[in-house]
Formats: sequence, structure tokens, C-alpha cells
Amino acid sequence: MNIHEYQAKAVLREFGVPVPRGIPAFTVVEAVRAAEQLGGPVWVVKAQIHAGGRGKAGGVKVVKSLDAVRSEAQRLLDSTLVTEQTGPEGKIVRRLYVEEGSAIDREFYLSALVDRACGRVAFVVSTEGGMEIEEVAHTHPDRIVSFAVDPVTGVLPHHGRRVAQALGLANEAAVQAGRILAQLYAAFLAKDMSLLEINPLVLTKAGALICLDAKIGFDDSALYRHPDIVALRDLSEEDEKEIAASRHELSYIALDGSIGCMVNGAGLAMATMDIIKLYGGAPANFLDVGGGASKERVSAAFKIITADPKVKGILVNIFGGIMRCDIIAEGVIAAVKEVGLKVPLVVRLEGTNVEIGKNIIAESGLNIIAADDLDDAAQKIVAAVKELG
Ligand code: ADP
Ligand code: MG
Repeated sequence: MNIHEYQAKAVLREFGVPVPRGIPAFTVVEAVRAAEQLGGPVWVVKAQIHAGGRGKAGGVKVVKSLDAVRSEAQRLLDSTLVTEQTGPEGKIVRRLYVEEGSAIDREFYLSALVDRACGRVAFVVSTEGGMEIEEVAHTHPDRIVSFAVDPVTGVLPHHGRRVAQALGLANEAAVQAGRILAQLYAAFLAKDMSLLEINPLVLTKAGALICLDAKIGFDDSALYRHPDIVALRDLSEEDEKEIAASRHELSYIALDGSIGCMVNGAGLAMATMDIIKLYGGAPANFLDVGGGASKERVSAAFKIITADPKVKGILVNIFGGIMRCDIIAEGVIAAVKEVGLKVPLVVRLEGTNVEIGKNIIAESGLNIIAADDLDDAAQKIVAAVKELG
């Protein structure tokens, strides 16, 4: 789960991390009032969307008068912001963050993430702040320093020195770098984050470090431990299909292809996506209905798939272990009856009650293509979608 910049900064503030003073605003009037409260003389009006690259797209404006705060707020609210990270359709700006302006001397990059290779939290630091780190990794890999933290010791003074050296910091700023590192690490662990990106971390003209931007991703599997974080969720920023899926406890991830998949078990779902690729098709989604899905859940999954305009064909591939094939068949038929079926549907069932399941489908009178095994199923759906053009 992701949250907005202003929410991320509030979370970091709890851990003592230095961030500029700021106030969120949902209307133009609120934005101006926020600016008055902050006092100026320099403000930054920042569009709050779940995507970076706002600065270059005109979503972050440094202004020097209340009138300018008003006009920027008017311009941004309800506008669609297209950044390098939003995709071409962009995102609608529904919230703003009005922040005090910082006098920037230098901009750096600092992030923390889970390094799966060593199973530790790792920091990535670079002198190239404000740029996308992927780009820096490509053009100037030598300007990136990264290290993992031993969970037994946590952040140690030598980590702080390493960051200070990498960023060319001395004196008070170097001491501060070590302190911020420890604070960020504490926040990362306490809140079960999966990603914490400060881009840019800046050195102000007064010689202090401060986090000017903050992006946080949380580990969804740990959200049950953090009702305070769940309360920050902004559903308008999320994929509607993914929200519907999470409501029905389905694991769903939208992809770019044209073949909708409904499968039980993550491994089988991956194998199904692979075999669709093998036969020249492309999956429109990853969808795992889980081991103990009910008829209702299967039917919800089916509706999510059919609601996607990219889907030109559907492949249902179920191995009935705990899950019974007849339940799947009933769920699919109930959903087809409700939402209709405008694209070819291939169903491959195997396992418990498979004969009953196949009979239910055969007797439904619906135009469903039956398949015997995974190979057969993948070939049939790819062929059916190709035929449509
Ligand atoms: P994004 O990453 O989406 O472009 P940022 O919050 O990083 O948005 O802002 C983009 C740039 O705007 C920063 O790199 C920084 O130069 C400037 N900026 C952002 N916040 C402030 C601030 N409070 N004071 C001064 N400049 C800022
Ligand atoms: Mg940024």
C-alpha cells in the first residue's frame, strides 16, 4: 500500500526525521489558509498523487505570495497531472500540500528497501538527488552507494560516516546524516515498510539536512498490525479492479495483455501465465482465487476480469484440491449469467469432482470451450483470441 507525500512526512515526523512544516489542503480556500498559517515568505504548492515526477510535470511550484498560492492551487486542484510515473492517462489532483520553502544548497538521494538477496534492510545513497535512481544507476553507477544493515546491531555510527562521506558532508551535517539514517531505519521497521524513498534529501544553505520529498510503500501482509496506516489509504489512487479484488480476498494484479486468467494457487497462476506466453498470447492479469474460494468469490473474480476492456478472452484454469470443481463451475456460470459473456471462455478443470464440474458446464448451454489439460487450454484460448483479431 502507498500513501501520499504529506502522509509519509507525518509518519517520518513521528520518528524525529526533519521535514519541512506543511499543511494538506483539499480546496483553494484551505490552501490559502494553510499558507497564511505557515507564514512564508516562500511556499511550495505540491500536488498530492501516488506518483513521482511531479516537479518536472508542473505539479510542484515554489511561490512567493499568497496570490500565487491561490492561483497555483486553482490551477492544480481537479487537474490531471501526467508525469513520467503516472502513465499517459495521468492522475487527477484532489489534494494539495502547502509547505514552507527551503533554501536548497545541494540535493541528494536516499532510500531504504528490503534487500531480498541478503534478507536485510538496505540503504541506497547518491549525490544525484532529484533524479530517478534507475537513471543514475544507468548513467553514473559510481555515484550510488548502498549497504545493508545487520538487524542485530541496527544502524551503527560507521553507517552514518559512510553516508556522510558518500554525500561529501562534514561537521554538523555529517552528524545529522547518521541521526537521520537511524531514524529512518527505526521508522522502516516499526511501520513494516517495503520502500522508503527520500528524493531529494537536501542540504540547506544554513547547513542542515532536511527531507523535501518522501515516498513510502508498506508491506500489505503486515497492514493488519497498523490500523493507523490503513486509515491513510486513498482508494481514489488505486486500481478499481485491485480494490474490488482485495475486498473479496483475491490476489489480483492487472497486466497489459489480452487474456484474462482465473486460477487457483499462485504457482499455477504463474505457470498459466507462462504457458499463455509460450503459445504467443499475453496475460491481462494475475489472479489467484485461493485454495478455499466460494462460489461468490469465483463469481466476483470473473466479474473483475470481464470488466477489463483489454480482456479479449478468458482462461479459467483450476485444480480442485481443497477447492471442488463443481463449485468453480457453478461460480463461473452464475457470473456469466449475470454479466454476460462477450469474449471466448476456455475452462480447464482437474481434480476433485471434475466430472460433476464438467457436466455442469456442458449442461449450462453456455458457449464455453472445454479443455483437457493446461497445454490444450492455453492453445485454445490463444487461438480463440487470435481469431478475433
Ligand atoms: P517529485 O519527486 O514528484 O518531482 P518533489 O517533492 O521531489 O516531487 O519536488 C520536486 C523538486 O521541487 C525537488 O527536487 C525540489 O527541488 C523542489 N522542492 C520540493 N519541495 C520543496 C520545498 N519544500 N522547498 C524548496 N524546494 C522544494
Ligand atoms: Mg521527489
